[in-house]
Amino acid sequence: MQMQAETPCIRCGKLRVFYRKWNYKADGKGFLITHVESVCPDSECQKVVDEKFAEMREKRLLLEDKRKNVLLSRRTKKNSYKNLF
Ligand SMILES: [Zn+2]
Repeated sequence: MQMQAETPCIRCGKLRVFYRKWNYKADGKGFLITHVESVCPDSECQKVVDEKFAEMREKRLLLEDKRKNVLLSRRTKKNSYKNLF
């Protein structure tokens, strides 16, 4: 497997440095996944990148929540129709 640590920073383009590495088992699959985490050598830059990622994660969660709510409200509507008839 290719080491993922040596990738340029998405923000400043500096080569990211190895931070930590761990193995975990994927759900329902019988193989180990090696996760390599790297950080920007510039700690100020890394902070900004972290914030950006957190923001993206939050937005994605919000979107997923919205989708779930739509599904739920549809289901509720269906059920209420069922109750009517
Ligand atoms: Zn950087």
